Amino acid sequence: MIRFENVTKRYRGTKRPALAGVDFEVERGEFVFLVGASGSGKSTCLRLILREDVPTTGRVAVLGRDLRTLANRKVPYFRRHIGSVFQDFRLLSSKTVFQNVAFTLQVTGASRGFIHQAVPEALALVGLDGKEKRMPHELSGGEQQRVAIARALVNRPQVLLADEPTGNLDPGTSVDIMQLLARINAGGTTVVMATHEAGFVDQMQRRVIELRDGEMVRDDVHGGYGDRSSIPQLVPEAARGAAAVAALTAVQEVHRQTESLEPLTAEMLASMKAARASQPDSQATSQQEAPATEQRPTAVGPRTHPIVLPEVDVAELGVADRLGLSDTRNDEEVGPTS
Ligand code: ADP
Repeated sequence: MIRFENVTKRYRGTKRPALAGVDFEVERGEFVFLVGASGSGKSTCLRLILREDVPTTGRVAVLGRDLRTLANRKVPYFRRHIGSVFQDFRLLSSKTVFQNVAFTLQVTGASRGFIHQAVPEALALVGLDGKEKRMPHELSGGEQQRVAIARALVNRPQVLLADEPTGNLDPGTSVDIMQLLARINAGGTTVVMATHEAGFVDQMQRRVIELRDGEMVRDDVHGGYGDRSSIPQLVPEAARGAAAVAALTAVQEVHRQTESLEPLTAEMLASMKAARASQPDSQATSQQEAPATEQRPTAVGPRTHPIVLPEVDVAELGVADRLGLSDTRNDEEVGPTS
């Protein structure tokens, strides 16, 4: 699904390559952590997967496509098969939650009917049903990241790339987001996540690829974080310990529920909501949470109140390229998808 063959990336004007001789293959449905100190090459890997950049030497193949030979005009269509989530959420501040998620579909020419079905489904998946009309500034950090995840998923991508998705969140909210990513992966989406969150990596025991100065120094099928000396210590040790315990409980629960790797069903969505409802503190740091009396509806399906989609100004979206939205002409399939 994603293959790096002896990939070296040297940025212009730099002495040391950002990546040197990196070789790995990610299979469909895997959850892979990319770890390593700042500057070790994690973001460069993600950029190469998204074809934001090309290797200096070596080959990157994604979804059956050799990205070296992928024509520039096909890149936006290729990117529609890959969802991206970032540390800083990158939502459109002037648009509602619904509009932020709808935007991806709207620009790619999806029908109004499809948008009104797919957006509520994506928001339900991330536990945000009922918040369609909120503006981003009315949401907590964790909720904003959920909107970003819904936006990344609404196209039903085969791969989700997450670059430090919990980097701006408090430990409790980070656990929520990790649970969500684990569930998305359990539904069949391949997830590649660059992170410094050693606690999550240790508890999840998923595949770990470690980079050091651009070289791949480890590829463990069920790995831990490894050397923690380079982890930025922005949170006191005690809080990190608490987060790790919470992460263990949460992630073990996800493992129990998803061992069979079934696709997400309405029942699973309902149980996600129930699990979230039983963690009242998980959004405790929310600055502008909904009133306690506001209950999220449990039904998954199109909403009945009218939601107005705005005219879209593509230039307004700084991440248009990354979302595969920079060219709206003639959609094309990327394939074969392996
Ligand atoms: P990480 O995501 O692990 O922090 P990066 O992939 O961002 O690492 O960076 C790897 C190396 O490449 C670093 O030395 C960084 O300074 C360098 N680098 C990244 N992007 C650029 C760029 N656009 N131009 C020059 N050097 C870059």
